[in-house]
Amino acid sequence: MAAYILENTSISALSVYDLLKHTSGSAFLEIREFHDIYPIAIENNNGLFTKNLSLQDFPSVSVSQIGHSLASTCTCSSSKEKLCEHQAEIICGILEEKNFRIFFDPFLRKKLFIAKAKIYGLENEADLDTYFELEYAEGKTDARPKIKEMLPIDEDTFKQYLLPQRSSVINELALQENGKKKILVIGRHRYYSHLNFSLMEAETTQAGKIKNPVNSVDAMQLIWKAEEPMHIKFYTAVNAFQNNYNEDYNSSELEALKLIVQNPMGFETYYHDRDLSETVSSKSLVPVNLENFAGRNPAGCI
Ligand SMILES: [Zn+2]
Repeated sequence: MAAYILENTSISALSVYDLLKHTSGSAFLEIREFHDIYPIAIENNNGLFTKNLSLQDFPSVSVSQIGHSLASTCTCSSSKEKLCEHQAEIICGILEEKNFRIFFDPFLRKKLFIAKAKIYGLENEADLDTYFELEYAEGKTDARPKIKEMLPIDEDTFKQYLLPQRSSVINELALQENGKKKILVIGRHRYYSHLNFSLMEAETTQAGKIKNPVNSVDAMQLIWKAEEPMHIKFYTAVNAFQNNYNEDYNSSELEALKLIVQNPMGFETYYHDRDLSETVSSKSLVPVNLENFAGRNPAGCI
């Protein structure tokens, strides 16, 4: 099957009238509807097309942009001194139908990719072909990300993936009961090297910063109010460590440490730095990330 080659041209540069020079018929000029044409396979600069006809078979026509030439084949039996009527019709369809043309027209492709890139915050990237590819499905062509981990930066995704996860409203209310915020404070005993944990509460500024005074909360009282098993375990564990003076930890204490680190209510956690002040106050509380303690032997970091 010999290919007919249109030298020094491309889909972006070609017009339907240019096609007249390469074919003997002009019936394709009358066609304004290209719904019947569909690609059997399509990718950038290459497509194999046919038509959905109820009464007769339509041959398969390939169109490829190879360098500066456009090459086309057709499975019909006509001599290929010129483009056959099928090739002329299909090439005309590519010129006119945006969903096909975009595979052969880099300018059109770039326009779609830029529009898509904005959704992902990538519009200033030099080579958008690295990030996006075309996909033809059910008569429509769209750009899809090549990398499936790419996240659109719409508001919902932003909230879901990028903002810190907020604890549930109920937890939030529990934290704010009586208008004060409960926090978990990790302290080091004045004379011993071990850590202790305590729950404290304080009013906060509008920005959420701890205000003085910072008062301790009796974890025992919270155990009675708690309903969730994880919350009860947590308060019990904190209570066990509130007045802990042991230098070594037995296995149940290590278990309790793990429960505290899990922090099921998402309390903000602070370290009481005695070098800053002997008393617990907004000045001597340093925010810490409890997760840094997780995964390590709790005794090892104490
Ligand atoms: Zn043909």
